[in-house]
This record gives sequence, structure tokens and C-alpha cells, in this order.
Amino acid sequence: MEPVVLKRPEHNVSRKNISSAAIKVLYRLKDEGYTAYIAGGGVRDLLLNRHPKDFDVATDATPEQIRKMFRNCRLIGRRFRLAHILFRGEVIETATFRAPVPEDEEAHPENIFRTGEEGMVMRDNVFGTPEQDALRRDFTINALFYNIADFSIIDYAGGLEDLKKKTIRVIGDPDTRFTEDPVRMIRAARFAGTLGFEIEKEAYDSICRNKDKLELAASSRMYEEVQKLFFCGHAKQVFQWLEKTDLLHPMNQDFSHWIDEDKARHDWVIQTLEQMDRWRKANLRVHPALLFALLFGEYHEFLMQQLVDAGTPPHDAAREAVHKHLQGICTNVRVPKQVIYQVSDIMSNQLRLQQTKGRRPQRFLHHKGFLDAFLYFKVSSKAHGRNEELLEFWSKLREEKK
Ligand code: ATP
Ligand code: MG
Repeated sequence: MEPVVLKRPEHNVSRKNISSAAIKVLYRLKDEGYTAYIAGGGVRDLLLNRHPKDFDVATDATPEQIRKMFRNCRLIGRRFRLAHILFRGEVIETATFRAPVPEDEEAHPENIFRTGEEGMVMRDNVFGTPEQDALRRDFTINALFYNIADFSIIDYAGGLEDLKKKTIRVIGDPDTRFTEDPVRMIRAARFAGTLGFEIEKEAYDSICRNKDKLELAASSRMYEEVQKLFFCGHAKQVFQWLEKTDLLHPMNQDFSHWIDEDKARHDWVIQTLEQMDRWRKANLRVHPALLFALLFGEYHEFLMQQLVDAGTPPHDAAREAVHKHLQGICTNVRVPKQVIYQVSDIMSNQLRLQQTKGRRPQRFLHHKGFLDAFLYFKVSSKAHGRNEELLEFWSKLREEKK
């Protein structure tokens, strides 16, 4: 199929807005005679006048050819080898155009795995044409290319139209594509929330039909995507899409039922997400443990109270509640053990913030878990209009330390 091509005067993408590292990679590939495109989210964001998070390059050079061209290059990936070209403060992910995996091979992976040089099991690279590479991507707006050779935009999937219409549209048949990789459903919610787009009707209906397949997604991939949902700076809108599509339910059943029971619980979640978004806007780094502590905080406190009522000492109850809940999620979203421990630290340290007598506060102030515990305490106290005096006490102590 012939793609739609927008020549340089017909679009707004300027080299000025592309990182110098990405420009270097593109020109190097081009000068060696290869095709070199920016692909995916970078092109989408440039066309929307948004600031791209990063730039991915797609090319017809093979990973080995790329490695020979760049001294600062590492090949990664077991199934499909990608080149990471390292610059100071930036990595340009450079991938060879990729073909879709033929269906019969997808069904019988044992036929195409072989033992690689390092003795690991790896799948042969399945290189493809630019068109195939575009069409294997998830949504039309994520399938655009920027060609460094003539500064044109190349569109094989109708992404330009959908950018204009502000639409998230699946490439190909939604049921097939969501079954193939269920993570795409939460990606749809993320892009709709972040960009302020609508999910196109067929895709939307398909998500409603297929949402339970999310439980089948690879748990490590889910963890990555779940973090992106809440760290994207538009967590509130993304969450609203997760609710609208009911994707929240297969992601975390108990939590989602618990929210549905009481509007106040729902309000808490929305408030913490607004806080996350404010922090992101201010360019503050929030790490995953604080995110999970805040997001699930009310729920964890609820579980804790149940344990305390049943006779568990409060400190143990905090740890037990967090571990039970987050470990339960782990079958679906592989939350790293370390993060679970940090979340339970935040929750159990809430008890230490209640104590203001003697030398304990000073000691706790210098403890490495203090800041996260305090931030949680501050957000939750403000949300509930409680602990005013305690907040003042700790804020003052922090000021004095500075
Ligand atoms: P962001 O700006 O949040 O990074 P992005 O569009 O760059 O958004 P990535 O997760 O970085 O998203 O993926 C880069 C590109 O790879 C996407 O734009 C899309 O073309 C393709 N892609 C990523 N994940 C999938 C998937 N699950 N199925 C198909 N294509 C995908
Ligand atoms: Mg990206």
C-alpha cells in the first residue's frame, strides 16, 4: 500500500525540536546509505506540538550493522534485538524494521526458538519492511514515521487523520490485536487520558468485551505499563478512562470493588492522583513506592483496621495488610519485592509520626524512610482535614534540620 506522505512544508515537525542525539543517529545511518526514521510516540508528540519523552529510531540497518556504526552502542533484547545508542543523559533506541510474527509461529513458539550465542534461548529476528513495521504497532497515531532523508512524515495507517480527529484507533481488528497483547488495552486508556483523545468506538467496545484478558498479560510488562499510567502527568484522566472502560476491575479486583462501595474512597483516589499530577508538573520525581502507598493508602488503612480489630498489633497490621494486598496483585502485575517493602515501611512509619515526645522525632527525622512517610502523612492529613498540629510539628522540625 502507498503511504500518505506529508512533505516538509506541509507539517510542523522541525529538527529544532528533535534531540541532537537522535539527529546524530539519523544522519549517521542515512550517510551510510540506510533508511532512517523517527518512529512511534516521538513523531506523534511532535505533530501535536507536545514535548516528546524520547525518540525511537527505526531503520533497515540490522542490529549488527548498527553496532558496527556506533561505538556507544549496546545490543539488548532476547527475542528481538534492539540497539541502544548511549549519549550523555540520553539513550536512542534504534530498531530494525520489524515484520509481524506469522500466526502459526506465534501458536508454536517452540519451532522458532533457538539457542543464541550466549546460550540463551532467543527467537530469530524477523526483519520487515517499513510498512510492516508501521502496521505491527498498536494505534494509528503511534505508527507515523519522520524521514530524515527529506524531512517528510510517512503514514501507512491513517494516523494523520486520527490525530486531527483526536482518536485512538487500533491498527487492524481490535479483538485480534487486544487478544494478541492485552496490555494494549491499558495503553489505549493511557493515550486517551494523556492526549485528551477519544477511544474510537470499535476499539472501545472491544476493550469492554476483552478486558478480562488483561489477567493473561505478562506481569513484568504490566508493571511497566501500570507505572506509566500513573506517572504520565495525567493520572487523573487516565484513571477515569480505566473506570469508564472498567479495566480497573481486572487489574485489581478487590481494590476496585472496595472503591465502588463508597464515594469517599473514590474521592481519595482521585485526590492522590491529582497530587501525583501536580508533582509531575513541578518536575518532581516520585518513586513507585510512594505512588503505590498513596494510591492504595486508604485501602491499606482499611485492611489494617480490620487486622487491628481482630487483635493484630498495629505495627504488624500495617506490614501484613500491605504485603497481603500487593503480593496478591503480583500474579497480575509484578510489583518488585523491594517496592512492596518500601510501601509497607511508609505505612508502618505512620505510627512513628504520631509520636512527638522525647528524642524519637529527631531520630526518625534522620531515618531514610522519613521523607516518603512524611509526604504520605501530609497528603492524607490534608485530604481528611486532620492532624493539623502534628503536621505543623513535623514541618517545623524539617525546617530546622535544613
Ligand atoms: P510515550 O510517549 O509514553 O513513551 P510511546 O508511544 O512512545 O509513548 P512506548 O511504550 O514508548 O510508547 O512505545 C513506543 C512505540 O512502540 C509506540 O509508539 C508503538 O508504536 C510501539 N508499541 C509499544 N508498545 C506496543 C504494543 N504493546 N503493541 C504494539 N506496538 C507497541
Ligand atoms: Mg516512548
